[in-house]
Amino acid sequence: MPRGSFALIDSKALQHNYQVACQRSGQSSAMAVIKADGYGHGIAGVARALAAVAPKFAVACIEEAIAIRNAGVGQQPVALLEGVHSEQDLATCIENNFEPALHCDDQLQWLVRAPAAPRIWLKVNTGMNRLGFHTEELAQVMATLAQHQLASKVIGFVTHFACADDERSTMTQQQTERFEKATAPWPELQRSVANSAALFRPGQKLFGWSRPGIMLYGASPIVGTSAAELGLKSVMTLQAPLISTRLLQPGDSVGYGADWVASKPTRMGIVALGYGDGYPRHAGTGTPAAIHGQRIQLIGRVSMDMLAVDLSTAPAALNGDPVELWGATVPVDEVAGHAATIGYELLTSVTARVPRRWC
Ligand SMILES: *Cc1c(COP(=O)(O)O)cnc(C)c1O
Repeated sequence: MPRGSFALIDSKALQHNYQVACQRSGQSSAMAVIKADGYGHGIAGVARALAAVAPKFAVACIEEAIAIRNAGVGQQPVALLEGVHSEQDLATCIENNFEPALHCDDQLQWLVRAPAAPRIWLKVNTGMNRLGFHTEELAQVMATLAQHQLASKVIGFVTHFACADDERSTMTQQQTERFEKATAPWPELQRSVANSAALFRPGQKLFGWSRPGIMLYGASPIVGTSAAELGLKSVMTLQAPLISTRLLQPGDSVGYGADWVASKPTRMGIVALGYGDGYPRHAGTGTPAAIHGQRIQLIGRVSMDMLAVDLSTAPAALNGDPVELWGATVPVDEVAGHAATIGYELLTSVTARVPRRWC
């Protein structure tokens, strides 16, 4: 019999969130970003759940795009946000309808040399300074492509924002203006700028394609605003059973380092999930969890296979009862806040030890 610790993945919530992304995208089409194993939810299941509605997927690399095809999802083009790793990969892109980004001179040389080229997105660096050609280089890159009869392979231009989640920053507007100006000489080509956070920025220009990722999974892209406030539903419920309960007396400590000490008689529970499952070890005493829809709190240090909770607020809790570590009652973003990180990291950190169960 399995341990009873698993991640329940709600395909209806995923589809709901995709619809929210479409609404926020207005006239633009939304390519569903499902990199990093579908943000930890399982790329095969995510691709299948969105196959009927998403016109395009986006992933980081070709391995992830192949995983979509191996899941039996064959219709949609898949954009490769980091482009290809080698010249050989270009043939795989053509065969599978993958659309790699072209972000550097090495990739341009591979493309020019290859016997055939896939359709590509030109990546423009407007200030993120991670990947992409400088705005001043675009004309030269386009000229090189045209020289090699590759102009028709260019689908359009993409750029990525550095500060879209910060409502007070003016950088997104600057990047948008830089992008619009730099790509204006090719009005017939497509354009894509917006990640999830940008889709919630008032007045944000969206062009033809948006690229929502985190919002699809029901986590908030915006610091200080909850996913529920944005109309998003939690997709992953991380759940594990209580496997032990005991009554602590004043002075009794809990777990490694004897970090937490009871100041009064306290009923506590041990949950069968720890950092070996991807739960953040930095989530300390006071981090929320839930049992029977009732909030409870972690106490002491998270161990590899277990963590401890205070059951004072859930006196009816019994061994075997399922505890929600995050999900509809406890937003993943809230747990992330207690671990000094972001929901993205927690969702993508759930290890292979935790079975994903789709419902
Ligand atoms: C990951 C990624 C996205 C999606 O970002 P979210 O913040 O998850 O919506 C969009 N575009 C690029 C280039 C990315 O790398």
